[in-house]
Amino acid sequence: MTWKIDLRQVKSFCSKALGQMSCCDLCGANVNKSFLLGYQLRQTLLCQNCISDLPYFDQTIISGNLLSWPAIHRALPNIHFDQLFALSPYTYPFDKWLAQMKYLGRFELANLFGTLLCAQWQAMQTNQVKLPIDLVLSVPLHVKKWQIRGYNQAHLIAKSFASQLSLPYDEKLVVRIKHNASQMGKTGSQRRKNLAKTFILQEQIANNIKHVLIIDDVVTTGTTVSEISKLLKKTGVETVTLVTVCLTLPKTK
Ligand SMILES: [Zn+2]
Repeated sequence: MTWKIDLRQVKSFCSKALGQMSCCDLCGANVNKSFLLGYQLRQTLLCQNCISDLPYFDQTIISGNLLSWPAIHRALPNIHFDQLFALSPYTYPFDKWLAQMKYLGRFELANLFGTLLCAQWQAMQTNQVKLPIDLVLSVPLHVKKWQIRGYNQAHLIAKSFASQLSLPYDEKLVVRIKHNASQMGKTGSQRRKNLAKTFILQEQIANNIKHVLIIDDVVTTGTTVSEISKLLKKTGVETVTLVTVCLTLPKTK
């Protein structure tokens, strides 16, 4: 008798077995199916209790747009995007996860962030009449930084988000041509000066692209996405929505 091993079946069996054994990243409990706001999540990192307990912004109070909150609008002057959708303030466990993803290469977190953003975004779509999305972009890294790090965390989150919502995603349209010094500790106007002429568009945007979503991991002053928004609006884009995992506002003196 000869044995034929189908590698695909072995792989599927192993991944199912491993899936069943996965432990919650935060509390160690077994991870089964998880839901958020009625949507089943495509993730195996967190148990249902931890998913429910994460420190999300309450999207219903702010109509899915943090700029409708006057204190946040005041804290982000001179911005050129129109809406801001963030999952959570920059706090535990998101701050820890974002650092692990950025510096330790925990790529599986991109899918968790993409999935959580998707569930929250879809819940807001059913509650409100929202503009259709014509294109999804992510904030690009300069090629030098990309070579050192090997990946762009905003791109990984955007890819997961766009594929789960079947939205067109273009990772090459916006290119960062200037390798800026760190933005940390700079004021809004210093950041704007530092970022001038940092980005270019690789090609013309089609006339029918009116609403663009830009994905980032953390937003502080919004100046980076503002620079990209200015470029997009010069080419006929009417509305830019910034979608980010975390928002951390600049400290007021
Ligand atoms: Zn848990």
